Amino acid sequence: MRDGALIYRSAFVEGLKPDPDLTVSQWADQYRMLSNKASAEPGPWRTDRTPYLREIMDCMSANSAVQKVVFMAGAQLGKTEGINNVVGYMIAHAPGPALFVQPTIEMAKRLSKQRLDSLIHETPCLAEKIAPARSRDSGNTMFSKEFPGGILLLTGANSATGLRSAPCRWVLLDEVDAFPSDVDGEGDPCALAERRASTFSRRKIILTSTPTVKDTSRIETEYLASDQRRYFVPCPHCEHMQWLQWKHLQWRDGDPKTAAYVCEACGCHIPEHYKSEMLRKGEWRATATSQDARTVGFHLSSLYSPLGWKSWEEIVTEFLRAKNDAPLLKTFVNTVLGETWEEETGAKLGAESLSERAEFYPAGEVPSGASILVAGVDVQDNRLAIGLYAYGAGEECWLIGHTEIYGDPAGQKLWSQVDDLLLRDYPHADGGKMKVAAIGVDSGGHFTSEVYAYARSRKGKGVFALKGQSVRNKPPIGKPSKVDINYKGQVLKNSAEVFPCGTDTIKSTLFGRMKHNEPGAGYIHFHAEAGQEYFKQLTSERQVVRYVKGFAVREWKKKAGDRNEALDCFVYSYCALHYLYMRFNRNTIFDQFDRARGQSGKTDAATDATPDKPIDSPYRPPQRRVRRSNPSFVTSW
Ligand SMILES: [Zn+2]
Repeated sequence: MRDGALIYRSAFVEGLKPDPDLTVSQWADQYRMLSNKASAEPGPWRTDRTPYLREIMDCMSANSAVQKVVFMAGAQLGKTEGINNVVGYMIAHAPGPALFVQPTIEMAKRLSKQRLDSLIHETPCLAEKIAPARSRDSGNTMFSKEFPGGILLLTGANSATGLRSAPCRWVLLDEVDAFPSDVDGEGDPCALAERRASTFSRRKIILTSTPTVKDTSRIETEYLASDQRRYFVPCPHCEHMQWLQWKHLQWRDGDPKTAAYVCEACGCHIPEHYKSEMLRKGEWRATATSQDARTVGFHLSSLYSPLGWKSWEEIVTEFLRAKNDAPLLKTFVNTVLGETWEEETGAKLGAESLSERAEFYPAGEVPSGASILVAGVDVQDNRLAIGLYAYGAGEECWLIGHTEIYGDPAGQKLWSQVDDLLLRDYPHADGGKMKVAAIGVDSGGHFTSEVYAYARSRKGKGVFALKGQSVRNKPPIGKPSKVDINYKGQVLKNSAEVFPCGTDTIKSTLFGRMKHNEPGAGYIHFHAEAGQEYFKQLTSERQVVRYVKGFAVREWKKKAGDRNEALDCFVYSYCALHYLYMRFNRNTIFDQFDRARGQSGKTDAATDATPDKPIDSPYRPPQRRVRRSNPSFVTSW
């Protein structure tokens, strides 16, 4: 038998006895002492100070039918002490085998040394149950605390060994969003730990955390599967019950001192000094139906922090400091609002905010300031999507057009339509005409050989085949490989080439730029005729954090069911710009193209106008031709 088996067996026996009819909050109000080392408010615990914790703690009481509590919260709400109360109650009144998991072993060590030792030491009824760690064979070590009827094991979510301990009736999982996604190849540490409790019909599991990133946040996933309780408090003016939301906190003239809460019903301003009364009269209300009737979930932002802890003024001050700095703002959203952060594209980069800054410039014409036209073509099974962009100095960018043409990519007709759109001249606002200098066509779909054939025959016009690589840290465009090989494995003369395209890198660059607000280097101009669908597709992906062996890995993820061709075309066209960088001097390329166009505008010898020293130039000087009428390329979707 494993060591400690006796204790577990006696714990099983203890578990059969009816648990004392005391709740966690009652126990804490009666017995819990806060030490002056660990607490800013030492002395006896008073649940009235943080009334919202009462129900959360009491769901962990032995007489509650709840099996699993999910608590997603911001900072300075008393969450840590609330969990300490659960631990104290368990040791003193409902003993059994318990597992307390921190994100890492190191943090578990700190929890043991700092939090638990002072919890036990300062609370007499606990001190008498657990021998001091000093004495030999006390059953009190760094990672395990024995007491009559039970044992408390401490471990880190990064240790599969620790999580594989014997059955436990109590499982406490702290800061679960900092847990690795997989522990030692044995899977999700939360699931491993929760499995410890599965044999106990009266199990008690609590998960708590400050949330992190949208879609990968464990605590939010758990909360959304729960009954999603919110703490409703009454307006002191109209009595309307409401839960506190950041959007209703207001202040005047950028002055945090004027921060007040605006009642969603009567619109009155509620100064913060009403908060104590509101908290006292508050109640938790479920806002959803739990997937499992014995699971309850609580969400609480720091807006509820009791008077004297974190004030609305401080919260507004923090927000004002963070609002223009994404990492700071993420911390604010996570730790103050207790909400997940949507990486990059999130709240700040919605389709709407992008479309709001769209501009009018003549359709089908290259605006002043732009020097080079590049295009990206995305190949789908029944259509092609085409994006055309212009770039100028500092890679300032203009959407010239985005469209879709339907048809069979295996046939010629569709590709000749691409020729019509992309191999023609485009007028420039400053005079002269220009061609699309480089066109990247995606070869990753089902029509690889058609794409190769198209690119091979139009190589001189800047057309190249590319294949997206979603691996991180790849350059926007890599070294091409020849793809036409004969039966001996030899590369054919004039073989088609395919260029690896660092889609991950490019997306990071472009999304970073979509946040620029000032025209100039790196700014992206969107055409006012680009419809909502364009912007929706452009922002269809967001960067998420995935954990691989405990390390955070950021990657781009598309929302299920969403289309993202507009984004792909934008990415491929940026790859096309880098295709040109391989052929021209990157420092002077925009000047070179400007000069070439300028000459074409002024001289009759337009056909001689070519940028300096192009190597295998895909650029063709403008032909003197009768200008065709330009159908608007920016389509309304
Ligand atoms: Zn009101």
